[in-house]
Amino acid sequence: MHVTVPVDLPGRAYDILIGPGVLDQAGALIAAMGGRKHVCILTDANVAPLHLAALQDALTADGLTAEALVLPAGEGTKSWRHLEQSVEWLLAQKVERGDVVVAFGGGVIGDLAGFAAAILRRGVRFVQIPTSLLAQVDSSVGGKTGINSPSGKNLIGAFHQPSLVLADTALLGTLPARDFLAGYGEVVKYGLLGDAAFFDWLEAEAPALARGDMDARVRAVQRSCEMKAEIVQRDETEQGDRALLNLGHTFCHALEAATGYSDRLLHGEGVAIGCALAFELSARLGLCSQEDPSRLRAHLREMGMKVDIRDIPGDLPDAEALLAMMGQDKKVKDGKLRFILARGIGAVFITSDVPREAVLAVLQDALRT
Ligand code: NAD
Repeated sequence: MHVTVPVDLPGRAYDILIGPGVLDQAGALIAAMGGRKHVCILTDANVAPLHLAALQDALTADGLTAEALVLPAGEGTKSWRHLEQSVEWLLAQKVERGDVVVAFGGGVIGDLAGFAAAILRRGVRFVQIPTSLLAQVDSSVGGKTGINSPSGKNLIGAFHQPSLVLADTALLGTLPARDFLAGYGEVVKYGLLGDAAFFDWLEAEAPALARGDMDARVRAVQRSCEMKAEIVQRDETEQGDRALLNLGHTFCHALEAATGYSDRLLHGEGVAIGCALAFELSARLGLCSQEDPSRLRAHLREMGMKVDIRDIPGDLPDAEALLAMMGQDKKVKDGKLRFILARGIGAVFITSDVPREAVLAVLQDALRT
């Protein structure tokens, strides 16, 4: 049994299928898309030994052949080097304009494979089969693809929508607990940015979800995808409202840069800390009550997540340096920092009108406490 969330973009509409076992439908669904009977899969070295055989079985059961390129796991794979390797491999596999490339992994593989598909022969179709919670609730949906540059994260990329997303929630069973919780950071973000009732539900159900309750996992992925789809339909290329999805990300990207994009801080962990900082900043600016950041922090703590900057192991640069790293962020417009701030849980807005001193004070206090 699965649920379907449609992404209704003109000329580029696609479905997100969510539920345990949707991987088994991969062959039938991809065969129905036309193209050659040969499917090329990009995956990583953690996912391949656990799940690649099941995907290949599902594809061959419907008369397709499947070949996979197994890339190293980790953020470092979102690089020019692995993009080149992927594109050259796809060309060697003779992928043509009508064919379908499959991204089978977490957000790293999804972003890299999506970008490779976007530029290969000026664009081939691709299917996202996200295997991490973060990828199922966020990165596989909405068409942002890309790689990192030495100058910053996600600075090279393209909008390229997938033709189908298969979010098999059973695959999350093998995800390490730390990666699961990092993905949960993005789930919480959806409650915070636009659905207070969802945040209430998470406060009650997230412990069961983390323990493996499948109905709760499907519900959380579904609600997250519905919210992302709704925003992407309104603003596909981030001219306005799509930036709401970046709640917590201005802080997060500075912290990721400060920790060298290493496993000292996973992206979703940075998002959770960033959301807590964005709510703290909002409360200090008198936009929301002090109870809101406190409630958020209590929930993240209860889930065993990183909440504060001080939870990041190792030394960090000072507040001025972190602020300078925010300036590298793509969310900078005309030299002004753009923030997503909150009037309360479920009510956020975009603003460039944030006093530098207020941000600095929040960072200074966060580094001290
Ligand atoms: P990831 O792809 O590195 O996956 C996390 C870890 O889990 C990796 O070690 C991976 O090998 C492993 N893994 C994945 N699925 C597994 C499974 N089922 N069982 C066991 N191990 C598994 O990272 P992520 O957290 O999925 O994604 C982070 C990336 O997503 C970042 O690069 C971020 O910039 C990007 N992102 C993109 C968007 C977007 O809109 N395109 C949105 C949010 C994040």
